[in-house]
Amino acid sequence: LLFASALAGCGIVSSGEEAASNEPKEKDDKLVIGLSMDTLKEERWQKDRDLFEAKVEELGAEVKTLSANGDDALQLSQAEQLISEGVDVLVVIPHNAEASAAIVKKAHDEGIKVISYDRLIKNSEVDYYLSFDNVRVGEMQAQAIVDQVSSGNFAYIGGADTDNNAHMFKEGAMSVLQPLIDKGDIKLVYDQFSKDWKPEEALKNMENALTANDNNVQAVVAANDGTAGGVVQALNAQGLAGKIPVSGQDADIAALQRIVEGTQTMTVYKPIHLIATQAAEMAVKVGKGEEIKQDTTVNNGQFDVPSILLDPIAVTKDNIVDTVVKDGFQKLEEIYKNVP
Ligand code: BGC
Repeated sequence: LLFASALAGCGIVSSGEEAASNEPKEKDDKLVIGLSMDTLKEERWQKDRDLFEAKVEELGAEVKTLSANGDDALQLSQAEQLISEGVDVLVVIPHNAEASAAIVKKAHDEGIKVISYDRLIKNSEVDYYLSFDNVRVGEMQAQAIVDQVSSGNFAYIGGADTDNNAHMFKEGAMSVLQPLIDKGDIKLVYDQFSKDWKPEEALKNMENALTANDNNVQAVVAANDGTAGGVVQALNAQGLAGKIPVSGQDADIAALQRIVEGTQTMTVYKPIHLIATQAAEMAVKVGKGEEIKQDTTVNNGQFDVPSILLDPIAVTKDNIVDTVVKDGFQKLEEIYKNVP
């Protein structure tokens, strides 16, 4: 064996013979982190991926990323692929909160720990959850709208029913709206999720909301900037864009442009560099068997998952410069590109 590894060191032994040896190789000592993503569709996820990968590499580990394009079966098979390629830790951004429990099971069968990133994997023994305070996100969205209009017909245009976050955003929003509904100030005249967070689904939802109420809608709580885009498009077709408040989330460039133009009221900025770098640090620590300091727990239907929840930031026209621009998240000239 010693002889074989000495030869391997000289590059003489072929990789086949090398693999047959049980001697640990230099290369195998490098920790490998797998990142299984639902999608790269929304602008934020590309930042998540790039920042996460950069941090893992900075910490001396290797990273393998696969994205499933919103397909549950594909996300599971990609996770299986990462597991079979020998990742030490799996970080998962699940498309489907329930279906992804199968990923946790597969990983655990191979002794691999799983970190739920941004979105919670429900009803599973997932090891850690790292996200933003998503109930708080929903509160911020509804509060910003109620600050503009505190009576009349409201529409709630939600995210993907399959994403646990969509339910948490709704829970937060309803905690602000419900007391006003109970008082009779607000009437929730439309309330639907938008399949897979698609802007075109949100557009259809908003068209339905307007049609069903003869355009008598005074405010819209939309769950993210993608859905807000669909909502604003539907409002625009009825000459209502800019006339009623609309919320959002993610600080997408298009949303910030709508905010300065006046067709969207707010967005929620979630500093992606924080979640991405903390997740990378957590993954590397978990891979080394080090202890993780949790802040809190979040129940996933099965148990209280050790969790870290970061703070979201509400953004309106007034604090764009002090938040997203100051953080280097978006550029001022890009935001004001369409404003004369
Ligand atoms: C994320 C949002 C994102 C949405 C659609 C949610 O789980 O928290 O930031 O806009 O998914 O991808």
